[in-house]
Amino acid sequence: MTVPTPPASLASQARAHAAAPPAWLARHEHFLLDLDGTLIRENEPMEGAAELLRQLDGRYVVVSNNSTDTAQSLARRLARLGLAIPAEKLVLAGQLTIDFLASARPGARLQLVAARVLRDYARRQGCVLVQERPDLVVVALDKRFNFAKLSAAANAVARGATLIATNADLSHPAPGNALVPETGVLLQAVAACAGVSPELVVGKPENMLFAEGLRRLGARPDRTLVIGDNPATDAQGAARLGMRYLLLGRGPAADSVSPAALLALDHAGHAHAPASETAAGMRPRLNTA
Ligand SMILES: [Mg+2]
Repeated sequence: MTVPTPPASLASQARAHAAAPPAWLARHEHFLLDLDGTLIRENEPMEGAAELLRQLDGRYVVVSNNSTDTAQSLARRLARLGLAIPAEKLVLAGQLTIDFLASARPGARLQLVAARVLRDYARRQGCVLVQERPDLVVVALDKRFNFAKLSAAANAVARGATLIATNADLSHPAPGNALVPETGVLLQAVAACAGVSPELVVGKPENMLFAEGLRRLGARPDRTLVIGDNPATDAQGAARLGMRYLLLGRGPAADSVSPAALLALDHAGHAHAPASETAAGMRPRLNTA
């Protein structure tokens, strides 16, 4: 007994269907990708991350609330993980904060709570880093944060220095569902102690990172899809600028668990439209000049 083979036309149709990009990919010109929880988990690439980047080649920029790296240092780290992302495609909250302040507040005295990489970058951009009598207290992720730094930052803010944060995330994901405490936790400690709110938060969901990503791509918000894992930063930030989005993760709002699963989404799968389609148009709270 022989097994009937499908007609050649049907077999070729099936192959074509399998090779076709998912609808969300075909429908958008440009893509803004989150990093932590979307492409990597701490020091592990997520399943399908390299393939996602390959399929979006030339059409994406990564926008991340990362405040411990420069684009150059992060590109080197990602290359070691097998993700080849050129530095010019990495828009990072810490670096963008420094670029913005170097341009908007030249000569200002900065008390910068941050990792060494970002502190070195700030000095190279001409920022004046001080321990006393700052004009601005800038909080980034500092894994050597301690009581003395908290005390110095809070007292400076209480005496009138402007409090600025690279981002307000409370954690980012690590393998095994572990949490890495983030900048927002340090920010809340300083803010709570001084009894003030930050004057400026640069990272997502605020507009500055997304606006810079769109500028680098020459992209229009209504033709750009955001792919992230955090409803409060990626989805909210996308919606504010009139961009559609897809979410990775295991939460109730997630569309799929990994980049691999996202690429295998049903071909009819579509991205979430922002709550108000009329929200399109860029209104960044601050111009990155
Ligand atoms: Mg993320």
